[in-house]
Amino acid sequence: MQVSGVDMGNCMALQIYGGQFRAGQGSTVHRHGFTLVELLVVVAIIAVLAAVLFPVFSRVRQKSHEVTCVSNLKQLLAASAMYAQDYDRTLVPARAGTAPGTLGYSWCVLLQPYLKSEQILLCPLEREGQVAARTTDLPHSYGINFSLTFNAGGFSSAPYTYRIAALDDVSSLIMFFDLKPGLEAMGSSYATDRLRRVDGRHFGRANFGFLDGHAKGMTAEETAEPKNLWLP
Ligand SMILES: [Zn+2]
Repeated sequence: MQVSGVDMGNCMALQIYGGQFRAGQGSTVHRHGFTLVELLVVVAIIAVLAAVLFPVFSRVRQKSHEVTCVSNLKQLLAASAMYAQDYDRTLVPARAGTAPGTLGYSWCVLLQPYLKSEQILLCPLEREGQVAARTTDLPHSYGINFSLTFNAGGFSSAPYTYRIAALDDVSSLIMFFDLKPGLEAMGSSYATDRLRRVDGRHFGRANFGFLDGHAKGMTAEETAEPKNLWLP
């Protein structure tokens, strides 16, 4: 078979890209472009690199979400500290300021004068958030520890909440945490079921904000054993 005057039998390889068959001296054939085998090798290398690097990129992105989440929690804690300064050193209540026919304003609303941003109420991995009622609450994906901030006697205009001075070890008391979507919008934390409200969305761990202002990732179980970090 002849192609441009060159016997195909002399061709050393199949040319893929834009090259021309040219006969050199004797039977030498000068190749331009890649052979099919070379191309397949390159494709295989790219596939292997992609398989290795995509999980790495994904993990880096997840890590950055975790950092943002911890930062959000620290800002919530800072806002709570400012709130306490203005309210006789008492913690922000889960709800307060009851108007007739409502449950009062949620902590998300009560902290707004100190946060000045609704975005801080949302974990980057749970941007939609949940909201009890638009008039008294804001979309949030963090929960508040009801053990410290809930009016145990029912919602009233005199919220039940702790004075910071009455608490012994504020560095081991949880105030805010990654709340599981779809559970109670308020993000309650009753002793009986608080652990199932924790959402381990950061590599199986949730982030927790502690009353002394620090925040870190833990599993739900680690907050109960060996020390219960929910109860004063
Ligand atoms: Zn988070």
